[in-house]
Amino acid sequence: MYQHHNLQGQPFGLPTGKVVCVGRNYLDHIQELNNAVPGEPLLFLKPATALCHVAEPVVIPTNRGACHNELEVAVLIGQPLCHASEEEAGAAIAGVGLALDLTLRDLQDQLKKDGHPWERAKAFDNACPVSAFVSAQDVKQLQDLAFTLRINGETRQQGNTKMMMRDTVSLLVAISEVFTLQPGDIVLTGTPKGVGPLQSGDKLTLSMAPWFDIQTTVVEA
Ligand code: ZN
Repeated sequence: MYQHHNLQGQPFGLPTGKVVCVGRNYLDHIQELNNAVPGEPLLFLKPATALCHVAEPVVIPTNRGACHNELEVAVLIGQPLCHASEEEAGAAIAGVGLALDLTLRDLQDQLKKDGHPWERAKAFDNACPVSAFVSAQDVKQLQDLAFTLRINGETRQQGNTKMMMRDTVSLLVAISEVFTLQPGDIVLTGTPKGVGPLQSGDKLTLSMAPWFDIQTTVVEA
Protein backbone atom coordinates (compact mmCIF):
# COMPACT_ATOMS: atom_id res chain seq x y z
CA MET A 1 0.00 0.00 0.00
CA TYR A 2 1.28 3.47 -0.91
CA GLN A 3 2.08 5.90 1.94
CA HIS A 4 3.55 9.41 1.75
CA HIS A 5 7.22 9.36 2.76
CA ASN A 6 9.63 11.98 4.05
CA LEU A 7 13.19 12.37 2.76
CA GLN A 8 14.42 9.75 5.24
CA GLY A 9 12.03 7.20 3.74
CA GLN A 10 9.80 7.20 6.82
CA PRO A 11 6.00 7.63 6.69
CA PHE A 12 5.15 11.34 6.58
CA GLY A 13 2.32 10.88 9.08
CA LEU A 14 -0.54 11.91 6.77
CA PRO A 15 -3.18 9.61 5.26
CA THR A 16 -3.25 8.82 1.55
CA GLY A 17 -5.82 11.02 -0.18
CA LYS A 18 -6.88 12.16 -3.60
CA VAL A 19 -4.66 13.88 -6.15
CA VAL A 20 -5.85 17.17 -7.59
CA CYS A 21 -4.12 18.07 -10.87
CA VAL A 22 -3.87 21.43 -12.57
CA GLY A 23 -3.72 21.49 -16.36
CA ARG A 24 -2.20 24.23 -18.50
CA ASN A 25 -0.30 26.20 -15.86
CA TYR A 26 2.91 26.70 -17.87
CA LEU A 27 2.63 28.73 -21.07
CA ASP A 28 5.37 26.81 -22.92
CA HIS A 29 3.46 23.53 -22.43
CA ILE A 30 0.13 25.08 -23.53
CA GLN A 31 1.87 26.17 -26.72
CA GLU A 32 3.48 22.78 -27.41
CA LEU A 33 0.05 21.07 -27.40
CA ASN A 34 -1.75 23.98 -29.13
CA ASN A 35 -4.17 24.34 -26.23
CA ALA A 36 -6.02 27.48 -25.20
CA VAL A 37 -4.97 29.48 -22.12
CA PRO A 38 -7.65 28.73 -19.50
CA GLY A 39 -9.53 31.60 -17.84
CA GLU A 40 -9.88 29.58 -14.64
CA PRO A 41 -7.56 26.79 -13.47
CA LEU A 42 -8.22 23.57 -15.40
CA LEU A 43 -8.69 20.91 -12.70
CA PHE A 44 -8.97 17.15 -12.75
CA LEU A 45 -8.57 14.37 -10.19
CA LYS A 46 -6.64 11.16 -9.82
CA PRO A 47 -7.83 8.69 -7.17
CA ALA A 48 -5.57 7.49 -4.35
CA THR A 49 -5.15 4.22 -6.27
CA ALA A 50 -3.11 6.15 -8.88
CA LEU A 51 -0.37 6.86 -6.32
CA CYS A 52 2.89 4.89 -6.22
CA HIS A 53 6.52 5.64 -5.42
CA VAL A 54 8.48 7.01 -8.37
CA ALA A 55 11.75 5.46 -7.18
CA GLU A 56 10.24 2.04 -7.83
CA PRO A 57 9.97 1.13 -11.52
CA VAL A 58 7.42 3.34 -13.30
CA VAL A 59 4.79 1.02 -14.79
CA ILE A 60 3.16 2.19 -18.02
CA PRO A 61 0.09 0.55 -19.59
CA THR A 62 0.50 -1.46 -22.79
CA ASN A 63 -1.62 -1.35 -25.93
CA ARG A 64 -3.35 1.93 -25.07
CA GLY A 65 -1.20 4.22 -27.19
CA ALA A 66 1.47 6.68 -26.11
CA CYS A 67 2.01 7.23 -22.37
CA HIS A 68 3.56 10.67 -21.84
CA ASN A 69 5.77 12.02 -19.06
CA GLU A 70 4.59 15.20 -17.31
CA LEU A 71 6.96 16.17 -14.51
CA GLU A 72 5.29 18.43 -11.94
CA VAL A 73 5.93 19.92 -8.52
CA ALA A 74 3.59 18.26 -6.02
CA VAL A 75 2.44 19.75 -2.73
CA LEU A 76 1.22 17.62 0.15
CA ILE A 77 -1.70 19.11 2.08
CA GLY A 78 -1.53 19.05 5.88
CA GLN A 79 -4.68 20.97 6.90
CA PRO A 80 -8.27 20.98 5.59
CA LEU A 81 -8.87 23.77 3.05
CA CYS A 82 -12.40 24.88 2.18
CA HIS A 83 -12.98 28.40 0.78
CA ALA A 84 -9.46 29.12 2.04
CA SER A 85 -7.67 32.45 2.23
CA GLU A 86 -4.13 32.81 0.87
CA GLU A 87 -2.77 32.69 4.43
CA GLU A 88 -4.66 29.47 5.20
CA ALA A 89 -3.56 27.90 1.92
CA GLY A 90 0.10 28.75 2.47
CA ALA A 91 0.00 27.41 6.03
CA ALA A 92 -1.67 24.15 4.91
CA ILE A 93 1.26 23.02 2.74
CA ALA A 94 3.00 20.22 4.67
CA GLY A 95 5.46 19.02 2.06
CA VAL A 96 6.87 19.56 -1.41
CA GLY A 97 7.87 16.84 -3.86
CA LEU A 98 7.94 15.81 -7.50
CA ALA A 99 5.36 13.76 -9.38
CA LEU A 100 4.77 12.32 -12.81
CA ASP A 101 1.28 12.99 -14.17
CA LEU A 102 1.36 9.96 -16.48
CA THR A 103 -0.97 10.58 -19.41
CA LEU A 104 -2.21 8.24 -22.13
CA ARG A 105 -1.98 10.98 -24.75
CA ASP A 106 -3.60 9.24 -27.74
CA LEU A 107 -6.53 8.26 -25.54
CA GLN A 108 -6.75 11.77 -24.04
CA ASP A 109 -6.83 13.29 -27.55
CA GLN A 110 -9.73 10.97 -28.45
CA LEU A 111 -11.57 11.75 -25.19
CA LYS A 112 -11.12 15.50 -25.78
CA LYS A 113 -12.47 15.12 -29.33
CA ASP A 114 -15.50 13.21 -28.04
CA GLY A 115 -16.08 15.71 -25.21
CA HIS A 116 -15.58 12.99 -22.61
CA PRO A 117 -13.85 13.17 -19.20
CA TRP A 118 -10.12 12.43 -19.05
CA GLU A 119 -10.06 9.80 -16.28
CA ARG A 120 -9.38 6.88 -18.63
CA ALA A 121 -6.23 8.67 -19.79
CA LYS A 122 -5.08 10.11 -16.46
CA ALA A 123 -6.48 8.20 -13.48
CA PHE A 124 -5.48 4.57 -14.05
CA ASP A 125 -3.62 2.58 -11.35
CA ASN A 126 -0.03 3.87 -10.95
CA ALA A 127 -0.77 6.97 -13.06
CA CYS A 128 0.78 9.19 -10.38
CA PRO A 129 4.29 8.15 -9.31
CA VAL A 130 5.49 10.56 -6.61
CA SER A 131 8.72 11.25 -4.76
CA ALA A 132 9.19 11.61 -1.03
CA PHE A 133 8.20 15.00 0.39
CA VAL A 134 10.47 17.70 1.80
CA SER A 135 8.99 19.40 4.86
CA ALA A 136 7.44 22.68 3.74
CA GLN A 137 9.38 24.66 6.36
CA ASP A 138 12.62 23.66 4.59
CA VAL A 139 11.39 25.13 1.27
CA LYS A 140 12.06 28.85 1.47
CA GLN A 141 11.19 29.81 -2.12
CA LEU A 142 8.15 27.86 -3.23
CA GLN A 143 7.94 29.99 -6.39
CA ASP A 144 11.59 29.59 -7.35
CA LEU A 145 12.12 25.84 -7.54
CA ALA A 146 13.99 24.52 -10.58
CA PHE A 147 13.13 20.96 -11.57
CA THR A 148 14.34 18.70 -14.37
CA LEU A 149 13.47 15.40 -16.01
CA ARG A 150 16.20 13.58 -17.92
CA ILE A 151 15.39 10.53 -20.02
CA ASN A 152 18.33 8.25 -20.89
CA GLY A 153 20.69 11.10 -19.98
CA GLU A 154 18.97 13.70 -22.19
CA THR A 155 17.21 16.70 -20.61
CA ARG A 156 13.56 16.53 -21.65
CA GLN A 157 11.76 18.83 -19.20
CA GLN A 158 13.21 21.80 -17.42
CA GLY A 159 10.89 23.95 -15.36
CA ASN A 160 10.91 26.52 -12.62
CA THR A 161 7.91 27.24 -10.42
CA LYS A 162 8.39 30.96 -11.16
CA MET A 163 7.14 30.16 -14.70
CA MET A 164 3.71 29.11 -13.38
CA MET A 165 0.84 31.21 -14.66
CA ARG A 166 -0.87 30.80 -11.26
CA ASP A 167 1.34 30.30 -8.22
CA THR A 168 0.84 27.40 -5.83
CA VAL A 169 -1.00 29.32 -3.12
CA SER A 170 -3.43 30.88 -5.64
CA LEU A 171 -4.09 27.41 -7.03
CA LEU A 172 -4.90 26.04 -3.58
CA VAL A 173 -7.28 28.96 -2.95
CA ALA A 174 -9.02 28.34 -6.30
CA ILE A 175 -9.20 24.56 -5.77
CA SER A 176 -10.64 25.03 -2.27
CA GLU A 177 -13.56 26.94 -3.82
CA VAL A 178 -14.47 23.83 -5.83
CA PHE A 179 -13.81 20.98 -3.41
CA THR A 180 -12.37 20.58 0.06
CA LEU A 181 -8.73 19.62 0.28
CA GLN A 182 -8.04 17.25 3.15
CA PRO A 183 -4.86 16.34 5.03
CA GLY A 184 -2.99 13.81 2.90
CA ASP A 185 -4.29 15.09 -0.44
CA ILE A 186 -1.71 16.04 -3.07
CA VAL A 187 -1.91 18.87 -5.60
CA LEU A 188 0.06 18.64 -8.86
CA THR A 189 0.82 22.15 -10.07
CA GLY A 190 1.19 21.66 -13.83
CA THR A 191 3.86 20.61 -16.29
CA PRO A 192 6.30 22.67 -18.34
CA LYS A 193 7.02 21.77 -21.97
CA GLY A 194 8.84 18.62 -23.00
CA VAL A 195 6.11 16.00 -22.67
CA GLY A 196 6.55 12.94 -24.86
CA PRO A 197 6.09 9.18 -25.09
CA LEU A 198 7.84 6.94 -22.57
CA GLN A 199 9.30 3.61 -23.69
CA SER A 200 9.86 0.45 -21.69
CA GLY A 201 13.48 0.46 -20.49
CA ASP A 202 13.81 4.28 -20.37
CA LYS A 203 16.03 5.50 -17.52
CA LEU A 204 14.50 8.56 -15.85
CA THR A 205 16.21 11.06 -13.55
CA LEU A 206 13.98 13.49 -11.66
CA SER A 207 15.86 16.36 -10.03
CA MET A 208 15.08 19.30 -7.81
CA ALA A 209 18.19 20.58 -6.01
CA PRO A 210 19.17 20.16 -3.25
CA TRP A 211 16.61 17.49 -2.33
CA PHE A 212 15.97 15.20 -5.27
CA ASP A 213 18.07 13.33 -7.78
CA ILE A 214 15.92 10.25 -8.25
CA GLN A 215 16.75 7.55 -10.76
CA THR A 216 14.08 5.16 -11.93
CA THR A 217 13.22 2.88 -14.86
CA VAL A 218 10.13 2.56 -17.05
CA VAL A 219 8.60 -0.91 -17.39
CA GLU A 220 5.51 -2.12 -19.19
CA ALA A 221 2.57 -3.48 -17.18
ZN1 ZN B 1 -0.21 17.38 -15.81
